[in-house]
Amino acid sequence: STPAAIAAALSAGARRGLLLKGGAVLEELRRIDTVALDKTGTLTEGKPVVTDIIPLASTETNLLSMAAAIETGSSHPLALAIVRKAKETNAPIPPAFDNRAIPGKGVAGNVGGTQVLLASPDAAGNETSIPEDVRTRIGHLNDEGKTVSILLADGKIAGIFGIRDEPRQDAKAGLAVLKSSDIRTIMLTGDNERTARAIGSDLGIEVRAGLLPENKQAIVRQLQAEGRVVAKVGDGINDAPALAAADIGIAMGGGTDVALETADAAVLHGRVTDIADMIGLSKAAMANIG
Ligand code: ADP
Ligand code: MG
Repeated sequence: STPAAIAAALSAGARRGLLLKGGAVLEELRRIDTVALDKTGTLTEGKPVVTDIIPLASTETNLLSMAAAIETGSSHPLALAIVRKAKETNAPIPPAFDNRAIPGKGVAGNVGGTQVLLASPDAAGNETSIPEDVRTRIGHLNDEGKTVSILLADGKIAGIFGIRDEPRQDAKAGLAVLKSSDIRTIMLTGDNERTARAIGSDLGIEVRAGLLPENKQAIVRQLQAEGRVVAKVGDGINDAPALAAADIGIAMGGGTDVALETADAAVLHGRVTDIADMIGLSKAAMANIG
């Protein structure tokens, strides 16, 4: 019977690490004609590495200490990279207070009475003016595909971090499979235009950069208003609103609890090729049912 066929497809998917929250999701997936994906942790490994620490009014160790202190407790991939680097280099991690994530922008906290903000250049630029020579250095890092975060101590630039996150090995192939099924693919990222384009052109995907979580959600809604049926793929860090707005929200890999709660589906192995497989599963199952 039909319910039996749906149950069979759901369990076949589950064996391959493709988890769908019920038959309605399985039915809807085959209608997807647009797949929007986050960059960090979705199209990329999400295991970024701190490659550059550039002190401007501090020392490397002190920069790392302040950054790691306010990133402690955050599960953002950039936070994990900073804390890992501090531990590797034995930079002390002092206690911090009032740590808070600023979705799509950065993280802030109080370290020994100093207000510390670690943020994207755009967000930092709203707090203080960024000198031209610093902008130039940031641009060079971006062209190397690196994400830059600026550390402000009491509102003044103390230094900058360059962080690189490699594309997932199967990202290019996974996107190619979607495109060969006439599915439009779009990268949505809070990262800056230059870094996003460096990665987007390697992967062959349309890029929308410099987005806040609410902008990502607005783009999903706009695509829907144009009549598109949209799947949004993300790890859910900062991006739960867009996952929720999409026709199908898909949590990627070892995503956050928030992502798993908000999403309609999850790919456990974190492969980009799994997205096409999941849509294929739906098309095959529904073809069988007729
Ligand atoms: P993405 O859309 O690629 O997942 P986010 O929206 O999470 O990126 O973040 C956008 C930008 O804000 C990052 O590229 C980074 O510069 C800054 N940022 C966000 N969260 C953090 C953090 N925890 N530590 C440092 N920088 C951060
Ligand atoms: Mg993100």
